[in-house]
Amino acid sequence: MAQKNDLKKIVSHCKEYGFVFPSSEIYDGLSAVYDYGQMGIELKNNIKKYWWDSMTLLHENIVGVDAAIFMHPTVWKASGHVDAFNDPLIDNKDSKKRYRADTLIEDFLAKLDEKIDKEIKKASKRFGDKFDEKKFRETNPRVIEYQKQRDEVHERYKKAMNENDFTELRQIIIDCNIVCPVSGTCNWTEIRQFNLMFATEMGSTSEGTMKVYLRPETAQGIFVNFLNVQKSGRMKIPFGIAQIGKAFRNEIVARQFIFRMREFEQMEMQFFVTPGDEMKWFDYWKNLRMKWHLALGFSKENYRFHDHDKLAHYANAATDIEFNMPFGFKEVEGIHSRTDFDLRQHEKYSGKKIQYFDPELNQSYTPYVIETSIGLDRMFLSVISAAYCEETLEGGETRTVLKIPAELAPVKLAVLPLVRKDGLPEKAREIIKMLKFSFTCQYDEKDSIGRRYRRQDAIGTPYCVTVDHQTLEDNTVTIRERDTMQQERVLISDVENEISKKTDMKNLLKTLIE
Ligand code: ATP
Repeated sequence: MAQKNDLKKIVSHCKEYGFVFPSSEIYDGLSAVYDYGQMGIELKNNIKKYWWDSMTLLHENIVGVDAAIFMHPTVWKASGHVDAFNDPLIDNKDSKKRYRADTLIEDFLAKLDEKIDKEIKKASKRFGDKFDEKKFRETNPRVIEYQKQRDEVHERYKKAMNENDFTELRQIIIDCNIVCPVSGTCNWTEIRQFNLMFATEMGSTSEGTMKVYLRPETAQGIFVNFLNVQKSGRMKIPFGIAQIGKAFRNEIVARQFIFRMREFEQMEMQFFVTPGDEMKWFDYWKNLRMKWHLALGFSKENYRFHDHDKLAHYANAATDIEFNMPFGFKEVEGIHSRTDFDLRQHEKYSGKKIQYFDPELNQSYTPYVIETSIGLDRMFLSVISAAYCEETLEGGETRTVLKIPAELAPVKLAVLPLVRKDGLPEKAREIIKMLKFSFTCQYDEKDSIGRRYRRQDAIGTPYCVTVDHQTLEDNTVTIRERDTMQQERVLISDVENEISKKTDMKNLLKTLIE
């Protein structure tokens, strides 16, 4: 697991090994836009497959769509994005740097949480088994003070956000003495609203042009197709529609690598339910989505739920799944109960009836929606940060290894001839020829075997098959496991079976239905 402040190392590792490159790098890059390289695309595709299969294979009542990025502009009026998809921005007059006012306050609250945690950890170390955390929280003067401050600021923040009270939001920043990390001063401008949608024009000038938006979320492509899918697929409520696709947001502050991008990918599923059943399904999806994350085997302590302080204009319940990134716990996925807001809005703006006739209740209604929305790039970052590991081996040598779950690893198997002679390369090629239909394989014969293992460790290849002189005698090879570095000798004819047992996506999917 990467430590705090390891983000820099992760960014350079991703570049060096072909996972993520800055966009248009030869022109010095484009802020908050990134390209995925040869390893990155494989990992990304595997994450997509894990998500897609967990939705569409495991649920017979979930089907997929792939809607266009451009949509009729009225869609965004109806959804509320034209009027309300704003972030509160604030500038520091000295550094001229721009921030999101809500993020400044949330970071301040997170710092107070960290201080409390630090005190608790210190005391727990000192008192050992006898440590009573609850009592400590209630009696330690420092913790009490931090907690009091946290609660007060949090209460004010929640109220200001819900009432869109920007004067108060700014006052909180000033009262808490939140300074600009660059200038170190508290010299702030007023807060302004900033719409995050990118707009462009469609059509040639002779026939007039229409202002269209690059979609800021994939969800609306599902809502406008609700009836198409329901009718053509004869879907019965409850049912879901899943989609993976690009979304675009003109983020005010775009930092932290692929965590906050201006062009990113979402994996969203809208689950349509009978009104009144939404809380039951909200809990169902909340638990199942957490299970999906935990199945990857990174420690449970890396995940937590975070209920929203401010509900979006469409939601009646919302929670985030947060992951412990190298820069603290951050949202990776949102689970929202969106009521019937979107379908009703589209009904109103399009003038078309969007309802479902429920044959069991013998009545028509506008379904309610539970949505699960996960950022593919944030998921990618969470996998890489949890997997990134620097180890010191016996003998003092070090290795950097990506302990990516085998099912998601970009390359499943490397086939390595021990030496570049005696017919070993030919034998290794023969093995690849046999296995390449089943796995992404790599062949590597350059440098010592140790260095080749290190290269595979660095891209997270879970298994290395080594062809040696014994192979020529008895058709056996060694399989080296990435994390333990243990080797096992097996018959060539068993390799496919052995590797597929360990890398099959089914392993992950099965844990979701246990
Ligand atoms: P944040 O509060 O971090 O801006 P959000 O609450 O606006 O995120 P949602 O609108 O709920 O995000 O979007 C669903 C998911 O899409 C998020 O959980 C996140 O994983 C992903 N996502 C949103 N914005 C971005 C972005 N700019 N870059 C990468 N992923 C994003």
